[in-house]
Amino acid sequence: MNFYIMTLFPEMVMDGLNTSIIGRAVNKGLLSIEALNIRDYAFNKHHSVDDYPYGGGAGMLMQAEPVYQCYDALARQIRERKAGEEERAGEQPDMACGKKRTRVIYLSPQGKTFNQSMAEEFAQEEDLVFLCGHYEGIDERVLEEIVTDYVSIGDYVLTGGELPAMIMIDAISRLVPGVLHNDVSAEFESFQDNLLEYPQYSRPEVWHDKKVPEILMSGHHANIEKWRREQSVIRTAKNRPDLLEKAELTEKEKKLAKEIQRDGQPVTE
Ligand code: SAM
Repeated sequence: MNFYIMTLFPEMVMDGLNTSIIGRAVNKGLLSIEALNIRDYAFNKHHSVDDYPYGGGAGMLMQAEPVYQCYDALARQIRERKAGEEERAGEQPDMACGKKRTRVIYLSPQGKTFNQSMAEEFAQEEDLVFLCGHYEGIDERVLEEIVTDYVSIGDYVLTGGELPAMIMIDAISRLVPGVLHNDVSAEFESFQDNLLEYPQYSRPEVWHDKKVPEILMSGHHANIEKWRREQSVIRTAKNRPDLLEKAELTEKEKKLAKEIQRDGQPVTE
């Protein structure tokens, strides 16, 4: 999977993403990450990319043209790469890239809030382009022309789209086959089925007088799964009851969730 980030601070995203699991996946060729400096496409001798907003108001706005030129160069690069791949595979090159438009995500506090199911959807793409705003944002006209998705990482305002882009790339990358050592580790996690993950324990068996729940050492897989599912329902009811509205629960689980929400504890029979 290929990530392209259009930004005024390429070193920030590249330094942040080239480490740990994502860095290893890049080295293995499972992912590629490229940051394009929008300032390289500035059309004046001072290389400035921002200007005052029409109508007044605080702060500066990123201008349309450098963003558009950066996007145009990138779109050409992606088209040529795809044509090369098709040629090598013996297919007729599709220079217009007519099959499917590459998604361009503008990170914006005004976008749809990012979540795990969006990460899963984006992980199906071959190429993803991220556009990071800065200052007071970007001239609306270029957004209208190039952006396909507006995504926010939460209801707060940051100084730039770089951290949101890194967060999204991290969440999407770990869903790409082979990026995590063990494919199972992405299999049941928080937000899967709209439930939070159950508590987990590792060695030692006793730590600060706290013992690992007996059931996890029983070796009885069916009982362990049953316990984990129950713990997920309890956690979700306690910490994120809003998720339960969309979760598929059995009648028994619904009763358990209600008890937790009402009493904070399940009623033991
Ligand atoms: N004036 C804009 C508004 O009120 O919608 C906010 C601009 S913000 C200071 C600068 C840039 O940071 C935005 O263009 C966007 O790329 C990024 N940004 C800020 N908060 C964000 C969030 N919660 N999610 C995603 N991107 C964000």
